[in-house]
Amino acid sequence: MPRKTPPVPVPDGYHYCFICEAAMPADSFPIRDGKPRSPCRPCGRKSRERTAAMQRLMDEARAEMRAFFASRPPPPPIVPVYEVNDGLARWVERRGAEERRKARRFKKDSAQS
Ligand SMILES: [Zn+2]
Repeated sequence: MPRKTPPVPVPDGYHYCFICEAAMPADSFPIRDGKPRSPCRPCGRKSRERTAAMQRLMDEARAEMRAFFASRPPPPPIVPVYEVNDGLARWVERRGAEERRKARRFKKDSAQS
């Protein structure tokens, strides 16, 4: 099912481009997962040409950032200052064990009677 509904009825074998606002044969669209995808090839090309300069800048910035972080020494390992405070975890564990014991006892009692 298309994500957007075309404003005009689109015949079989045709696909609607929301950018040039026209229904065109499905073979003028790029095919992905066996389905024609919007926008149509000319619109996609125009969009890529329009954003090419910005894409180039972004690629350069990404490369610079990657080089910067690669040149830094790795961070020192984290050494805990205090002992691990796992009181809550132990309480939860104890409580769970108690409840399981109670459930077992209840099951045993109801099986005997
Ligand atoms: Zn188009």
